[in-house]
Amino acid sequence: MTDYNELLGNILKGKNSSSGNRFVPPDIEVFQQGQKTIVSVDKLAAYINRPVKHIAKYLMHELTVPGQVSEGKIVLGGRFSFKSVKEKMDSYMKEYLFCKQCHSPDTAMSKEESNYIVKCLGCGAQYPVGRLK
Ligand SMILES: [Zn+2]
Repeated sequence: MTDYNELLGNILKGKNSSSGNRFVPPDIEVFQQGQKTIVSVDKLAAYINRPVKHIAKYLMHELTVPGQVSEGKIVLGGRFSFKSVKEKMDSYMKEYLFCKQCHSPDTAMSKEESNYIVKCLGCGAQYPVGRLK
């Protein structure tokens, strides 16, 4: 009978210790269309909990091109390869996603007045992030 309790304890412990919460962001899709580049980031945006519009602003700013969000996709007024857009997305996540204290991706961004604030749900850090024009 004592074995049964021990066994149950182990099962419960096993359940709790499976912290398989790895950060695996979905890929973005990049298509060239004439002199434009269409970037599909909706899956990634949902996964990292950031607005597509904010990502669009960042890409336009970083690649110094005009652009817009159309039907959930980012349309950039220039031709860019998958690689160059992906690199910008990586730096976007570095700047606006990963906690600067503990590097956790488990953060939330909110807008307070005209500033964006990132709050870490892991360590509780909270700090303003760069403003996009
Ligand atoms: Zn943190």
